[in-house]
Amino acid sequence: MKIIPLVPRGYCKGVVNAINAARQCAQTHPDVPITVLGMIVHNEYVVRALEQLNIKTLEAKGKTRLELLDEVNEGIVLFTAHGISDAVIEKARQKGLTLVDASCSNVVDTKKKVQQRIREGYTVLYIGKKGHPEAEAIVSSSSSVILIDSLEVVQKLTIDTQKIALTNQTTMSILEIAEIIEAVLAKYPHCLVEEEICSATRMRQEAVLNLAHADLLYVVGDPHSNNSAKLKNIALQKGIPQVEMIETCRQIKKKDLIGKEIIAVTAGASTPTYLTQQVIDALNGYASTGTLILPEIDLSKIL
Ligand code: SF4
Repeated sequence: MKIIPLVPRGYCKGVVNAINAARQCAQTHPDVPITVLGMIVHNEYVVRALEQLNIKTLEAKGKTRLELLDEVNEGIVLFTAHGISDAVIEKARQKGLTLVDASCSNVVDTKKKVQQRIREGYTVLYIGKKGHPEAEAIVSSSSSVILIDSLEVVQKLTIDTQKIALTNQTTMSILEIAEIIEAVLAKYPHCLVEEEICSATRMRQEAVLNLAHADLLYVVGDPHSNNSAKLKNIALQKGIPQVEMIETCRQIKKKDLIGKEIIAVTAGASTPTYLTQQVIDALNGYASTGTLILPEIDLSKIL
């Protein structure tokens, strides 16, 4: 059995910066309540590790960042790597909170481009995931932005203007957005396309697409993580016979390993290196000894 850890995999610079911003807040303001508005990055273990530093995460399915902010009345509010809308920033200021913005620079750049197109009078088509905080921050900013989350939405579009621009959430699948862009251009050939998949997302997806062969691919990532989910989709579209998304090595099942010759491992950009390395070590151990050892997760090693 051969184990292939794909390169690159795991943490991107935006995630590292966001986690460092949170740790720094905890170090420099040990007596101030610190609240992260939403999951700092989409990984439950990172959230739990932050709790150990007394950093609270506010997350409620279906609630927007603006609604979550109602529950923060003191201290520091930290905005996540996924970006934040101007309305949330304004409301946090009005509440007298101290703001720490850990938005990834790629997300901020996309937001600025969208704002620029809106100022120029464009209707902006934004390919993204409904309810995702990055998409929420951009779509909620103006009625001139239309969320495109499927080909069906493109088919139903009725836009009566020459000024149409198209962009996307940074963590989408390169294959899915290519299909949507093609459909939009077929309908609106004059549409100005500004593709915004970030290089971290693109390189992790290309590593999966360039994989010569694997009988099984593990994607280490949290079910909330869009870029991890897209890695799984890409692998399935490529035709890898079995693709398993797991949060930790504890979810590896011995029955899945039996009879496999090549097993590859990748990880979403929000997956801690420690968790991915445990998966790789467990698989290498099994390949050399036939025994699958799945260690406990040590939260102190996550950050
Ligand atoms: S996946 Fe891309 S956009 Fe998201 S935090 Fe990482 S570098 Fe930034």
